[in-house]
Amino acid sequence: MSKRAHLIYNPEKECMSRDELHALQSSRLAETVRREYECVPMYRARMDEKGIRPEDIHGVEDLQYLPFMEKTDLRDYYPFELLACPRSEIVRIQGSSGTTGKPIVSGYTRNDVDVWSEMMARTLTAAGCTKDDTVQVAYGLGLFTGGFGAYQGADRIGAMVVPMSSGNTQRQIMMMKDLGVTLLCCTPSYATFLGETIREMGLVPGKDLKLKAGCFGAEPWTEEMRVHLEELLGIDACDIYGLTEIAGPGVAFNCLEKNGMHINEDHVIAEIIDPATGKQLPYGEKGELVFTTITKTGMPMIRYRTHDICSLTDERCACGRTTARMSRITGRTDDMLIIRGVNVFPSQIETVLIRTQGVAPHYMLIADRVNHSDTLEVQVEMTEDMFSDTVAHIENVRRYITEQIKSVVGISTKVTLMAPKAMPRSEGKAKRVIDNRKL
Ligand code: ADP
Ligand code: ZN
Repeated sequence: MSKRAHLIYNPEKECMSRDELHALQSSRLAETVRREYECVPMYRARMDEKGIRPEDIHGVEDLQYLPFMEKTDLRDYYPFELLACPRSEIVRIQGSSGTTGKPIVSGYTRNDVDVWSEMMARTLTAAGCTKDDTVQVAYGLGLFTGGFGAYQGADRIGAMVVPMSSGNTQRQIMMMKDLGVTLLCCTPSYATFLGETIREMGLVPGKDLKLKAGCFGAEPWTEEMRVHLEELLGIDACDIYGLTEIAGPGVAFNCLEKNGMHINEDHVIAEIIDPATGKQLPYGEKGELVFTTITKTGMPMIRYRTHDICSLTDERCACGRTTARMSRITGRTDDMLIIRGVNVFPSQIETVLIRTQGVAPHYMLIADRVNHSDTLEVQVEMTEDMFSDTVAHIENVRRYITEQIKSVVGISTKVTLMAPKAMPRSEGKAKRVIDNRKL
């Protein structure tokens, strides 16, 4: 894509020396732990159990001695028991899409909303956003953090915000065209749907639309999908990462180098652990991402296990930022399917599908158990061209995909080619997996 200049929202914080950053993180961590110990009985009990006192925590290197926090804690102490401040200090509640049981809610103080807005302002700026831009927010606006996060970041920059929320696809595109929207924020799966619809409406990105960049996140997507979206929409497609428990979107973001996501390390500390043993892993190794918030005052999180799999690097980036970067998320431990003993992530299958001519990036994985053995069906949609091709050619493509999956993932699957438009379209987070074995 176009080589645009790197813009940095807060160079003082984003380009600090690593030593300075380490010192800042250390003092903020010590303060966070002290406050958490004093104000959150659950965490105090957990530290007492391990025999750790707040004064034992001097810096980042002591993080490894602290107990973890988990998603189940947010359910067990729902809704307010993890607050580290009086309830009257909370100015906002956001919640996660939480697919099962009680939703997960997080309380934000004025400070927390400000910090989050700052992180999102950095995120959008890294994608090239300035006050002259028009930003369409097509993430859901509501309890889900996506919409408000993008809104707050664009507002902080002083850009013109179009708060569409998700859905109503034709209208989204009409506004995009009429208002000359330059930056789109939504999930990558919704961006695919929008892109397809734009084409179907006979509009040509670059000619009829002014879009230059997209900040896409909230769900796992592959490098192949990114390239696909850049071509489909004629934009720079940037990955953005976040989660309700830590702040919302903007915890980490791509700069235009798109070589990993810069972590807002003056506000959070990232670690990678071995998910089985809980031991810290060095930079470069893949494992479970763990975050500690160091400026949050409403509901601080210490060593929060995200269940997201990635690696970290602190190699210098050409953009000038000094912050460490996290790799693309290859999957969530909870999305990982174990098929006949083999670990399968939807992203591996997505990579194969997008590289294949004749199929569209709309797919679903369906796991089942037949005669005590696991089965995996991959349903993927054909393009219009492919659909009208010969039966023999369609069968060849089907066989090709089966072989590719076998060689990349190592398992046999049943590949089913679906008619164009047969798969459900997503306006928010796409559902890619149905595991009938769990029902
Ligand atoms: P949930 O999806 O658990 O209901 P959230 O809306 O807070 O709650 O989503 C946070 C999760 O979304 C992350 O833990 C991660 O699994 C996923 N996610 C967010 N951004 C990305 C991204 N850029 N790439 C991959 N996964 C992401
Ligand atoms: Zn960079």
